[in-house]
Amino acid sequence: MIETERLTKRYGNLLAVDQLSFTVGQGEVLGFLGPNGAGKSTTMKMLAGFLSPTSGTARICGFDVEKDPVQAKRQIGYLPEGAPAYGEMTPRKFLEFIADIRDLRGQEKRRRLDQVIDTLHLEPVMEQPVDNLSKGYKRRVGLAQAIIHDPRVLILDEPTDGLDPNQKHEVRSLIRDMAADKIIIISTHILEEVHAVCHRAIIIARGRILADDTPEALEARSERHNAVTLRFAEAAPDDAVTALRALDGVASVGSGDDHSVTILPAGGGSLLPAVGRLALERGWQVAELQVEQGQLDTVFRQITTADAGEEART
Ligand code: ADP
Repeated sequence: MIETERLTKRYGNLLAVDQLSFTVGQGEVLGFLGPNGAGKSTTMKMLAGFLSPTSGTARICGFDVEKDPVQAKRQIGYLPEGAPAYGEMTPRKFLEFIADIRDLRGQEKRRRLDQVIDTLHLEPVMEQPVDNLSKGYKRRVGLAQAIIHDPRVLILDEPTDGLDPNQKHEVRSLIRDMAADKIIIISTHILEEVHAVCHRAIIIARGRILADDTPEALEARSERHNAVTLRFAEAAPDDAVTALRALDGVASVGSGDDHSVTILPAGGGSLLPAVGRLALERGWQVAELQVEQGQLDTVFRQITTADAGEEART
């Protein structure tokens, strides 16, 4: 388990991380979401033992990152932002070097090296200097060094940043495959990534937690959650908008192009049964009926812009 309690980091006058408290359990993939400068990397660096907290605590599988740094670090694989490696080394030399640091020896070292080379499809580039590799391969080398000791906890800072769509897909599959017996924290500003790999997302801004929920529950906060769009076979009947507006639980009704009408619920309630009944009663010729889940990016904007508004007022 990872547990933080009022974890805080100041850089001079700047409060980068402000009393973050959260826990993550085995089998969970937690997404850290936030605008640039929110404090995601700083939090990850403190968890990985690369930065000392100004105050508060973080425990990795029971080991305090400050009081028991060696044990805490042993549990962790960390992919820093940009996945730096030693550019003049080949992936083979680099990974052997990391394996040595991680105390892997003899057969175990060879077995783990073979495994990460295979998992991350690194074989074709093992003898080229890291500097000459494509971004995709560099990131894979970074991931390989993070998982070489088969850690219980993985902390991955923007693991798919700069990768092409196929490479993104591959890295996400890899994260999903590893998730069952690990604790994984990834930071990202790509919201589709949260859907693809995360069980839970923490939205942070200005170093504070603004939301902590499943991607589905976050979507349910969208004003478009459960919005119903009716597309009529021909022009919308004259009484449609008025009749729909009169239904219980309707916040607003808007007409779109293509003979469609969208009904937004008040408080996110389900409108589908009532809209369906009304369409039947009135004998409307409905070509299409759609219910929206709400989009994570809308919710992200709702939550973070509300916070930015607050910042402007304080
Ligand atoms: P994120 O990863 O969410 O983009 P960071 O954790 O990198 O955010 O940064 C949080 C805040 O701390 C930002 O305002 C950033 O400019 C500042 N910051 C980050 N690293 C340092 C540093 N080494 N010295 C001073 N300020 C820093």
